Parts: sequence; structure tokens; C-alpha cells
Amino acid sequence: MIVDLRSDTLTQPSAAMKQAMLDAPLGDDVFAEDPTVKGLEEKVAALFGMEAGIFCPSGTMTNQIAVKVHTQPLDEVICDKLCHIYNYETGGWAFHSGVSVRLTDGDRGRMTVQQVEELILPDYDWYPNTRMVAIENTVNKGGGSVYSMEQMQALSDFCRSKGLVYHLDGARLFNALEALGKKPIDLAGMFDSISICISKGLGAPVGSVLLGTKDVIKRSRKLRKVMGGGMRQSGMLAAACIYALDNNVERLKDDHAKAQQLAQTLSECAWVRRVLPAETNIVIFEVTDSAAMAAKLAEVGIRTSPFSPTLVRMVTHLDITDDMLDYTIRTLKTIQL
Ligand SMILES: *Cc1c(COP(=O)(O)O)cnc(C)c1O
Repeated sequence: MIVDLRSDTLTQPSAAMKQAMLDAPLGDDVFAEDPTVKGLEEKVAALFGMEAGIFCPSGTMTNQIAVKVHTQPLDEVICDKLCHIYNYETGGWAFHSGVSVRLTDGDRGRMTVQQVEELILPDYDWYPNTRMVAIENTVNKGGGSVYSMEQMQALSDFCRSKGLVYHLDGARLFNALEALGKKPIDLAGMFDSISICISKGLGAPVGSVLLGTKDVIKRSRKLRKVMGGGMRQSGMLAAACIYALDNNVERLKDDHAKAQQLAQTLSECAWVRRVLPAETNIVIFEVTDSAAMAAKLAEVGIRTSPFSPTLVRMVTHLDITDDMLDYTIRTLKTIQL
């Protein structure tokens, strides 16, 4: 058996999702004429109580557009050292926007008001302009750690009081909301922009949505075009995203339950030094040599991602069945070093 726990981006579109893609009414979205794309953008915006949305090919693009739309060169973005914008977007903040970043050392990627406050720079000629705060929820590199509503709100109040833009990289925001027992609308009014990936645990093949005010999204359309992200009959992709939002949100709790079971099993394995708390669908654990361990697990059909020299990541998702979980748990218990 092959159990692919490397990422929740590996999910395959289901037959019903593919049918929804085939049935979608289409138009040219560069002309703003694709009804399915418009439908998705309006649907996600309404869910979160935001004015408008824009459909993009990736979460990297929605984040990079957000940084660009909110900043000028010489501005600075405060984020955590574990965040995706800083680590995994090819340094795009510098490339596209000419900004610098200043990093907090948060609790598994979660920063506090105090940590942000300490990084705000005074207005001297030799400093960049502190302009934007970007958080991630859940935090991938934090092992799917979740900011509470109170933590998100406290940072929001603080950003408002300092005139800072507040962005949420919500690649796995639906996982966070599931863990918190909250609805998207509970975030209304908190952020200046939100990026959501529908190609992760929600199971669409492609697609992210950036939310913001009408003005921010209008300007984002031009930025998406210049980055090469203007798509034509992209309603086929948007249809998969609509299907995912209608059918695959509730079931995220199953992924979380599976991740907890994996974390529990790993914590009982002698070859595992430490397991980060599995709050959502990501399990990160520490071993002596992550590459060697991932190779050993791959030999028995369990695919994982080495995440640092000593950390290994497993991610549960909708293509991980109960049988696969049982096989993984049984097999992990037999591994000797
Ligand atoms: C996956 C991810 C993104 C965006 O990734 P793409 O592969 O470009 O869609 C952004 N932020 C986080 C936290 C992610 O996990």
C-alpha cells in the first residue's frame, strides 16, 4: 500500500468535482466575463464578509499580490520566521514589491502583539517604513498551529491603532476555523486582506482567492495580469473550487482526527524524539535524521516530507482513507532503528 502523507496538495479531483468542472458556464475572465469565476469570487467574499475577491492560480500569487497592493518599495512587512511568505515564495516580497521583512520568533509561528510592537521602526531616514503585518493561520511550519480568535483580534486592533495593514495568509484557514469551531463570517472586519487556498485540504486541483475591499481587489486585477495570472475560461477551475467549498469543508474534521491518531502513535515510537501538537491536519515530528527516516518510511509505502535536517512532516487529506490510516499506524509501530 502507498500512503502519501507528503502534502494536502496531492489530492485528486473526485468524479463529482470533475463533473462540476465540465458543467460550468464559461467566459473569458480577462474580460471579466466568466460567470463561474465571478460566482466563486462573490461566494468566498460573502462567506467572509469581505467586499470583493479575485481568483488566482496559486496561494503564492494571492500572497504576493497582497504584499504588492498594500506596499511601496522601502516599506517593511512584519511576519513570523516560519511563515510561507518569507520561506517558500522565492523571495517574491523583494522581487515584486521591493520591500524588506522583519521576523518574529513566535510560538510555532504565532506572533503576539508585543512581538510585533517591538519590531515597529521609528520614522528615521535610515529605516524602512513599517507598513504591513502578515500572519498565517494555520501555520504550516508550526505543525498546523492555530491562532485563536482572540489572538487574531488583538493583532487586528493593534494594527488598526498603528495604521498598519493586516493580512492573513489563510492557505489552510478552513482547517483553522474547523479547529476553532468558528465560521468564516466570524472573521468579518478583522483583516485588510485574506488569501485562501482551495487546492490544499479542500481538494480542488488549482486555485486560491484573495479577498479585500473593492478598491484593493480592483488594483489586484492589474497586478494579477502583470504577474501573468490573467486566465481565460478559468471557470472550469473555479467550478472545482465551488464544489470543494460546498462539499469538502465539513469533512476537514476527519483529517484532523486522523492527524491526532498519527501524532499519538508517533509519540509512542522509540525512534521519535518529539511530536509537535497536532492541532489540525499536519503532524511534525523530530528524529535524528529526517532524510534517512523519510527514506526508510518510503520503503514501506509511507511517504512523508523531510522538513528540516531533523523534522519530518505528515499531512492528512481527503485521499487518505481509514484503511490507509490503519496501515500507517500498524506499520509505524513495527519500525525499528
Ligand atoms: C501552500 C501555501 C501557500 C500557497 O502555495 P501555492 O502552492 O502557491 O498555492 C501559501 N501559504 C501557505 C501557508 C501555504 O501552505
